[in-house]
Parts: sequence; C-alpha cells; structure tokens
Amino acid sequence: MLDATPKEIVERKALRINPAKTCQPVGAMYAALGIHNCLPHSHGSQGCCSYHRTVLSRHFKEPAMASTSSFTEGASVFGGGSNIKTAVKNIFSLYNPDIIAVHTTCLSETLGDDLPTYISQMEDAGSIPEGKLVIHTNTPSYVGSHVTGFANMVQGIVNYLSENTGAKNGKINVIPGFVGPADMREIKRLFEAMDIPYIMFPDTSGVLDGPTTGEYKMYPEGGTKIEDLKDTGNSDLTLSLGSYASDLGAKTLEKKCKVPFKTLRTPIGVSATDEFIMALSEATGKEVPASIEEERGQLIDLMIDAQQYLQGKKVALLGDPDEIIALSKFIIELGAIPKYVVTGTPGMKFQKEINAMFAEAGIEGSKVKVEGDFFDVHQWIKNEGVDLLISNTYGKFIAREENIPFVRFGFPIMDRYGHYYNPKVGYKGAIRLVEEITNVILDKIERECTEEDFEVVR
Ligand code: SF4
Repeated sequence: MLDATPKEIVERKALRINPAKTCQPVGAMYAALGIHNCLPHSHGSQGCCSYHRTVLSRHFKEPAMASTSSFTEGASVFGGGSNIKTAVKNIFSLYNPDIIAVHTTCLSETLGDDLPTYISQMEDAGSIPEGKLVIHTNTPSYVGSHVTGFANMVQGIVNYLSENTGAKNGKINVIPGFVGPADMREIKRLFEAMDIPYIMFPDTSGVLDGPTTGEYKMYPEGGTKIEDLKDTGNSDLTLSLGSYASDLGAKTLEKKCKVPFKTLRTPIGVSATDEFIMALSEATGKEVPASIEEERGQLIDLMIDAQQYLQGKKVALLGDPDEIIALSKFIIELGAIPKYVVTGTPGMKFQKEINAMFAEAGIEGSKVKVEGDFFDVHQWIKNEGVDLLISNTYGKFIAREENIPFVRFGFPIMDRYGHYYNPKVGYKGAIRLVEEITNVILDKIERECTEEDFEVVR
C-alpha cells in the first residue's frame, strides 16, 4: 500500500503527509468528557463535531457524547452567536447536563467569534439555568494538535472553575495529560496505595471505559465533579504529568489560586515512574509501600528476562510528545536504541529533551523531529531500517510494507480492542509494554526462522 514511498528525501516545509497528530478540538472534547455530567460542545459546523466524536469513539469503542453549534452558510458569514445561544437553551432543556464545555473550531476562530461575550450575554438573558455552567476554550486547529486542545480545555476549566477560598484541602492536584482512562485509573491507584488525598482533573475513567449495564446513561458515573474542580484552587500542590498537555493548566492554577506546581514526565517506564512515586513521597512525607516496591521489582525482573531480545534493537517511535519523551527513555532503559523519534505536535522542547537523552546515553546517528509525519519516518526507514515500530494505528501501513514488528501505542488506536482497559503508565503499565514489545519481536523471529530454530521455549 505504501510501496510508492521514495527513498530519496526532499526537504518539505508546507506539506504534511500522513500527520502524526489529530486536531485541537479532539483533545478539548476528550478533556471535557473528563468532567462529570458535562456535555462537550463544538462551536462550528457539524462535520467538525462528527470527526472529533468519531476519532474518540473509534479509539475507545464507546460513544463520545457532544453537541454542535451546527454552522451553516449564515453563521459562516455573520458569526455563530445566535447558533450557540439557541444551542445552549436546547441542550439544557433537552439533555440537562450540569455543565457545557465549549471549544471552538477552525471556522469559528477564523470568524473571530467572541465566546466570553456570548456566554455573558446568555447569563444576562437567563439562558443558563440556576446552578448550571457554561465554560469555553479556544482551539484553533491550524495551530497545535489534539494535545494542545487538551491543554487549552484544562486551562479553560481552571479559568472558569478553580477557586481559592483560603481553606486548604490538604490534597494534591494531578493533571494526568492526554492519556487513556486506564492510565488515569492507574495513577489514582498509586495515589490510593500511598494513602494520599488527590483531585485528578480531567478524569475520563468511568466515562470512556465504562461497563455495559443494560441501562443507557447519557452521563456515565465517571469524570471529575464540579465541586472538586472548584476545590483545585485550595490544594497544596499540582503535579503536571507531561509538560505539553498539563503545564498550561498547572501554570494558570498557580497564577490564579497560588497553588504551586511541579512538572513531571508522563510516568511511563522505570525512571519516569520512579520520579512520580518519589515526588508523591517527597510532597507528603509518606513512605513508598511494599506493594509498589514489589511491582517495580517485577518490572525489573521482566526487563532482565527479556533483555536478550531487546538489547541493541533499533526502534522508530511516533506519537504525542509527553508520551514519546517518556517512552524513548524507557526504550533506552530496555537496552534498545530510539532510532527515529517523531511527534506531530509543535514545540522544540521535545527535540531538546530527546537530544539530551541521546547525549546522556551516548547514542549517535538517531533522528528526532518535531511536527514530523509518518512519511518522514517511512523514508528514513527505507534508508536505514529498524527492528521495531511503535506508533498509533497509522503506523501499521509502514510496518506491513517493511515487515517490521509493530506495537500500537498512543492515540488513536482504531483497529484493536481492549487496549483502553490496560494502562501504559506506572510499573504495571511498563510490564505490559515490555510484554507487547518483546512478543512482537518474538513473533517475527518465529515467523521467519528455519524449522530447526523454531523452539518451544524462548
Ligand atoms: S481541523 Fe479544523 S476544520 Fe478540520 S475538523 Fe478540526 S476543527 Fe474542524
């Protein structure tokens, strides 16, 4: 299918071919789904909203509820003020959410729609019922990616809801970054294992990984409650997991409510999880429990067992910056070499961090690119191959063409089932990653080896 990809590399500036990202509102919608009883609202045309919902539904195999301002020709010329005012009235009377979280789209941004003014006009007109809320964020998709959109919605949550009442709550806020509901569950489990009170926001666990009960619920059990979102302004500290997705919200909260924050890598792999656990311990003075130490020990044991198949393997990685920074480090911890490291999200910090990692590990000849795409990586692979490819679903076309073991990782994964129940963060998540990585390498060995090398035991 990708047999026409040429080996000769031509420098491109204004063209992306198979980008390694989706658009800003996807991230904003995902973050909004992590608020309890919230209906995300896309301020633009129906097509945008359908696309954003579709990507989320295909990844999580769950309905992603959202409404739209349904722009047609009139709104595209005169602005979407009257559309959103009608939409908000209809949404509260028909669907009765506690909160509507509005994000913009390319069209409403290009028009310059002034959401704060529309919201205050709706408040003045009494279109927002008593006790209900409308918040917003701007997500122009011609800049950034779904990670930027996620960060912007978290900032919107803080801007509208966080309050410093002067009464400390003794909790730690945690902004988990653009990770899945299973990751959010795992981060919460680690907090609970250490007996540390926390507020995670947003929190899509129980929303996009909920059970089938036979009863339809428009608003599932999960999501951060509005009173907890308000209370984030009274916490002792915010842990921002992944600077791209979480720092904006953490910084805004510090500025607005004087809650200090600490940025950590997304806790993927040994050292990033160590950093997270130690940050919890240092912030609270709590001991790391034996159960967490045991999980770490199991991970190290597995890494030693799998070492023979991973040592020196060259790996291509594409995905979201926070996850790929942490995963690249883990690949080095596994004795392998991140050969090509690409994110579609802009921001030179990525390149700086990956290059520092290469320098520290003495890795030479590897490539890193910001705002890169799958075409870049395919061309590089054509010039010098790799032993493993790790990316979202779209990497499978390269993997098939070049016969490379492939691990699906990141967002979106639309062609496999059950991944949304398994964390990739924490020691437990790292165990699963080692299992997946080692097994795809073994699968290839066994597919291609001679009969006499086709062993029962590996
Ligand atoms: S890139 Fe812009 S126009 Fe396209 S779906 Fe996203 S918001 Fe809509």
